[in-house]
Amino acid sequence: MPSLYKPRYEADGTFAALDRLDEAAPTSVAGRIAADFETRVRGIRQIVPNIGIVFDRAQLEVMRGCTRGCRFCQAGMQSRPLRERAPDVAVAAAEAILRATGYEEVGLTSLSTADYTYVRQVASALHRRNPGVVISLPSTRVDAFTVELVDAIAPGGRRSGFTFAPEAGSQRLRDTINKGVSDEEIVRCAELAFGRGWSAVKLYFMIGLPGETTEDVLAIAGICRRVLEIGRRRHGGRAQVKANVSTFVPKATTPFQWDGQDSTDEIEAKVAQLRNALHGKGLVLSWHDPRSSLLEAALGRGDRRLNAVIVRAWRNGARLDAWDEHFKFGVWIQAFADEGLDPAWYAQRDIPTDEHLPWEHLGAGVSTDFLLRDRKLALAARTTADCHWGPCSNCGVPAATGFGCDTGDQGPRQMLISLGGDTDGGEAGAGPPSRRWRYVGPPGDARRSHADGTASIGAVASAAGANVDRDRAGRRGRPHYMLGMQMQSKDAEPNGLASPVEAAGGEKSG
Ligand code: SF4
Repeated sequence: MPSLYKPRYEADGTFAALDRLDEAAPTSVAGRIAADFETRVRGIRQIVPNIGIVFDRAQLEVMRGCTRGCRFCQAGMQSRPLRERAPDVAVAAAEAILRATGYEEVGLTSLSTADYTYVRQVASALHRRNPGVVISLPSTRVDAFTVELVDAIAPGGRRSGFTFAPEAGSQRLRDTINKGVSDEEIVRCAELAFGRGWSAVKLYFMIGLPGETTEDVLAIAGICRRVLEIGRRRHGGRAQVKANVSTFVPKATTPFQWDGQDSTDEIEAKVAQLRNALHGKGLVLSWHDPRSSLLEAALGRGDRRLNAVIVRAWRNGARLDAWDEHFKFGVWIQAFADEGLDPAWYAQRDIPTDEHLPWEHLGAGVSTDFLLRDRKLALAARTTADCHWGPCSNCGVPAATGFGCDTGDQGPRQMLISLGGDTDGGEAGAGPPSRRWRYVGPPGDARRSHADGTASIGAVASAAGANVDRDRAGRRGRPHYMLGMQMQSKDAEPNGLASPVEAAGGEKSG
């Protein structure tokens, strides 16, 4: 806010500090976190456009935050702590949204929906209670669980293309960015997807990642060819692999915020290498315009001086820049030049880690210490565990936000699934609930399938409504409870949680 803060710059143009103009203004600004995300849903009455749009369906955010820790991902770093909507709340909200909008399709969205603990239960209940409603999931995580999940949730759905995001072609670079996916997993996913009827697989990659070599770039072509071979065995000449390549954009409050972007010439050279290595029947390569990535990085790591650039570019006709046909790179370059600034300086410079950053007064939850530690691991191509299932890496979120984490080194969690009692077709949560305690582990964890002597999650999903009750006295009436932990929601009282119906209506706030 210009009335409260004034930025100061060094003679070389680097950011020096943000001076307060009013002593009452805080030195740092903390983000706000939805304390009741798990138990209450707002935004039931969604806008229904009267023209055809991409993703023309109702949307329900089922999980906020992500603990996978991809080092390039700003959303994953900024949206912690992880919060998952209680299953009965999610079902009631999805139904309320479908009623309010008239849509017959609902997308269960989040940064990584396959990681949503209750995804099968929620989808199963929605299918059972609303025959004909289509459920869609974004499918980008590379693991067998995701393929099986999408296949199970949309058994008769379109099989046009399955999307994975390995992000990098080589194992070393995937470890550098903390993607934690092996070649074997990619191959296994491709086998599963082609085997389940998909004839095309779309793979998302980035080029220009920190530490990238020519071998890493060419490894993209190698893995694409390997995947195509698998597809050919199943679908012959119909098999297709589409590689979509974008340019790495360093983002504020990520471990890679200090790393400069490749120049557009370097990116174009890498794209040319890939085009040479990746062509032929069944292979399709598309790439993002590196000039637009340059602007993304410049604006993403910019300071307040860029306000004038943005206004100038807009006055000179920059509109709808994300659409290729409207993108006017020259207008932007001229706007930077007119303000005496250089987009390459913002985007492509390696920033010393002891330099002050224009966004350091904005609390993102994760601490600078954590970002530096994680960057050091990146430089050594070492990974950081997903703290949802693995050990806590002390990212700083609890200290910064006051929220305790239900993630961490507790391992697979026991929790209450309370969907089962609602077989009467009424609102989720209506009628006497039946409950079931069970382990929930990461995909691939055997305990996920045979936890605590109970049936698999798949069995729970298919038999939702016939749950075996292992109710624990004193925990009745709680739609969502983590054994041995308190709810993340600071304001949620054990017996005072919003009912799913209230939650879906979003009428009350507290
Ligand atoms: S504090 Fe630990 S458990 Fe919580 S989000 Fe950060 S790394 Fe994960």
